[in-house]
Amino acid sequence: MKTIGLLKENKELSIVALTPENVKSLSDHYSIFVEKNAGIQAGFTNEAYESAGGEVIDDRVLLFNKADILVTYDGDLEALKNDRLKTVISCLPVRDEFEKIVSLKGKKVNFFSLDMLPRTTIAQAMDVLSSFASLSGYQSVLLGFERLKVVGPMISGAGGTLYPAKVLILGAGVAGLQAIATAKRLGAIVYAFDVRKQTKTEVESLGAKFIEIEGAIEDNHSGGYAIQQSNEFNRLVQKTIANAVSDFDLIITTAKIPGKKAPILITKEAIAKMKEGTIIIDLAASTGGNTEPSEENYATILGASHLYNDVPTSASILLGNNMQSYLNYFRTHEEQILHDEILQSTLIIEDGKLVNKKIIEQIKEY
Ligand code: NAD
Repeated sequence: MKTIGLLKENKELSIVALTPENVKSLSDHYSIFVEKNAGIQAGFTNEAYESAGGEVIDDRVLLFNKADILVTYDGDLEALKNDRLKTVISCLPVRDEFEKIVSLKGKKVNFFSLDMLPRTTIAQAMDVLSSFASLSGYQSVLLGFERLKVVGPMISGAGGTLYPAKVLILGAGVAGLQAIATAKRLGAIVYAFDVRKQTKTEVESLGAKFIEIEGAIEDNHSGGYAIQQSNEFNRLVQKTIANAVSDFDLIITTAKIPGKKAPILITKEAIAKMKEGTIIIDLAASTGGNTEPSEENYATILGASHLYNDVPTSASILLGNNMQSYLNYFRTHEEQILHDEILQSTLIIEDGKLVNKKIIEQIKEY
């Protein structure tokens, strides 16, 4: 039976890559070692892992030695010194942080990241990016309303009428759609924009209004993702948004392009036009952000890339289920790795050598 070593994440992260429930399910096929306190911050005790069939270990080096497969979201592998080949299954955002994998080059490691999953039907159950994007979209609205000085819904009473807050969502992918749904539930009037035409129907079906800007380019081979737009189109978008922003209380930006810097959608000029108290939450902050840095303005800009970490129990349940699906798939398809789209796409380093074509191309461009 192969062994799994579940790592405690870095200090900044409160999540854990497998819950006791996942450990219980996986223990039919694996012996599972759990680093002490790996799940504490997410609400899962060492005892819970032990009851689920895991063995808790208080020594990272020993855990590294015992495990055939190390499982982590974005854990620190510095202490990894191994003489036999190890598999690491992570969710490291390799496209944005590929310098982190450099330290693994030359080590006896096969390194996988779920961040590179193809968006196929089979891979859906493993899609951590989608799981966390949904949570971040939801959390961003809560964070925004906590900071706003106005209420979400229309409230009429003895003191008169308060009109609904106006919310603008830029980028209507997984995070954006969840943000729209959450803001609508709180009674706000919601507008949204995305460069992918199909999002218009999705936005409207959630009861929000779609801002139409003609001229976006799309690529049917990009796996459902947006691609970089022309400078001319970007300027048109920036101008349209700048003309609209003075009306909004909360603006949430989620626009990303995998492996590229996020597009600037909110310029300094737009920020200067905002009314006092406007909150901007930039969910694309980890890849440069959708908002141009600006000092003199009335708006508050919050760059928020890891909002899922504020709900670590929920985040770990989703992450753990995605990871469990991947591990089950890995176990049954490992032999055919060369011909398997999911495993090939997520394999980044093979026996110490960088092998992922997309990452190699990106490093060349960098
Ligand atoms: P993402 O996080 O890369 O980007 C977020 C959104 O920003 C996207 O909707 C994108 O179109 C938009 N965007 C990019 N550049 C923009 C610009 N200049 N202006 C405005 N908006 C811009 O993407 P995501 O949310 O992870 O998903 C994108 C798509 O993939 C969605 O259609 C989603 O339903 C689909 N998806 C498919 C699967 C699957 O089939 N397994 C899984 C997850 C998501």
